[in-house]
Amino acid sequence: MLLLFDIGGTNMRIGVSDDGETITKSKIVPTPQDFNQGILVLKQTADELSGGEKITGVAGGVPGPLDKEKSMQVASAQLPNWIEKPLKTELKKAYNVVVHLENDTALVGLGEATKGAGRGKSIVAYLGIGTGVGGVRIVDQKIDKNSLGFEPGHQIIVADGNLCNCGGKGHLEAYVSGTYFPMLYHQKGEDITDPAIWDKISKYLAIGLNNTIVHWSPDIVILGGSVSASLPLEKVQLYLKEYLTIFPQAPEIVKATLYQDSGLYGALQLLKVIEYTLMPL
Ligand SMILES: [Zn+2]
Repeated sequence: MLLLFDIGGTNMRIGVSDDGETITKSKIVPTPQDFNQGILVLKQTADELSGGEKITGVAGGVPGPLDKEKSMQVASAQLPNWIEKPLKTELKKAYNVVVHLENDTALVGLGEATKGAGRGKSIVAYLGIGTGVGGVRIVDQKIDKNSLGFEPGHQIIVADGNLCNCGGKGHLEAYVSGTYFPMLYHQKGEDITDPAIWDKISKYLAIGLNNTIVHWSPDIVILGGSVSASLPLEKVQLYLKEYLTIFPQAPEIVKATLYQDSGLYGALQLLKVIEYTLMPL
């Protein structure tokens, strides 16, 4: 039985898989702000879902960047009390198996690339647009090698532009993510119906997509996250056609299809890839 999780700032989704291919059972529970309480809830929910069956592998996502060893979070605006807490060690102690942690957006992208909208594509660019903007490059069903992760949301699209929560200026996130909508457009994302506002958002996003596409050269771009759901895709594609002049055509731009389960599928794929890597030839 494999244990999979996707820890978010508000809720965590916990699942188990008994065949390594599908999610057998899953549950959403509120994320405790306290780390020790969080571990307890995670373990209790896992026991409940697995019915006491032995856990043979653990993988999951956490919000924010991880340390080089991928053993804990080093920063998180959403879960400040989880920063630099020994998540990997605690889970290893509990289940006595190797534990794999990843950035949550990277796992969501991996899930979408392998089981969702990116199925069958070799190079997938995933952008999650919600309260912030995250992203990941997936190559042949694996998270592409990287030194410090991927941060397409913090590319500069306007010189000396809007202040981003990370401290930078003019970042994509500060133009297209939900956190900034009340300030920029005086309403929440879910209330925006004015096509002129969506047109503006689409234009900024197309600039970001142009940059991501010229650097990552993907076969397909998948847009996930709560903001993407209401995004007028045809507008984004039209602007992109105008901006992306160096390639004969833009790659396919599509919306995510898995939504809530994508992080768990990503965790499952992570365990699968690691298992193949460790298998003797
Ligand atoms: Zn930023």
